[in-house]
Amino acid sequence: MSELRVFKQAMDDLPYSEMAPALFIGHGSPMNAIERNEYNQSWATLGKKLPRPKAILTISAHWLTRGTRVTSMEQPKTIHDFGGFPQVLFDQQYPAPGASDFAALTQELVTTTNVQSDFEWGLDHGTWSFLLPMYPKADIPVYQLSLDYYKPMGYHYTLACELRELRKKGVMIIGSGNIVHNLGMINFSGNPYDWAVEFDEKIKSFLDVGNHEGIIRYDRLGAVAKLAVPTHDHYLPLLYAIAQQEKNEALTFFNEKTELGSVSMRSFILS
Ligand code: ZN
Repeated sequence: MSELRVFKQAMDDLPYSEMAPALFIGHGSPMNAIERNEYNQSWATLGKKLPRPKAILTISAHWLTRGTRVTSMEQPKTIHDFGGFPQVLFDQQYPAPGASDFAALTQELVTTTNVQSDFEWGLDHGTWSFLLPMYPKADIPVYQLSLDYYKPMGYHYTLACELRELRKKGVMIIGSGNIVHNLGMINFSGNPYDWAVEFDEKIKSFLDVGNHEGIIRYDRLGAVAKLAVPTHDHYLPLLYAIAQQEKNEALTFFNEKTELGSVSMRSFILS
C-alpha cells in the first residue's frame, strides 16, 4: 500500500470524539500550497475526512511578536510573507472569514498573559498554505494566535494548555511549523542529514510516549538540537499542539519525511 493510502486508511480508523481534533502540521515550503505533491494531498485528505470544525485556530511559526496577540478582524487578509517564489503563489488568496467570537473567548481563557486583539495581521503562509488544499472553499472561520518570541519554552506550553477548552467548543487547534528546520543547511540533493533524522526520531519517541517534558526541554539533546533547531520559531508551534493532548488521547503521524536534508515534515493528529 502507498503511504498516502495507509494515511487515508488511518483517517478512516480514527476514533470518534466529541472534541475537535488538534494537529501539528509541518508546513515546509510555501509551494506545498499549490504543488500536487504528497503533502498537499495529505492536507486535502484531512479536509475530507476530519469532522468539520466550527472554527480553526492556528499558531503559526510566521507570526512572532512581543506579547501575545489574537486576530480579531471580521475578514483577515491573505499575507504573502515570502520572497523568490513564482507569481502564481502570490496570486493565491484564502478569503476565510475571521472568528472574532472565538478570539474573544480565547482572550478570556488565557490567564498567563493579557492577549491583545489584533486587527492588522491576517493569515500568513504558515496558515493558508495547508488550509488552501485542506478546505479549498475557505468557508470555515479562521483566526491566529501569535508567538511571544521573547518568552521561554515552558511559558508557551503553559499558555497553550489554557486553550484546551476551545476544542470542546468545536475549535480545531493547529500548530504549524517544522520539528527540524535549518534553512541555512538546505541540501537540494535531498538526502536527510544524520542529525536531522536523529533529532526527528528522538522527538517522535517522546511523542509516542507522551513525554511532553522531553519535547519542551529539547535543548537537552545537545549538538543535534542546535543543528535541528538553530532558531526555535518553527519548533514552538509543536508545544501548542502537544499541550492539547488529553490523557490517553491517540496521536496519529502523517507526512513523516525530511525534505531538502534539513526540514522535517512530520505531522500528527490528536483525536
Ligand atoms: Zn515556515
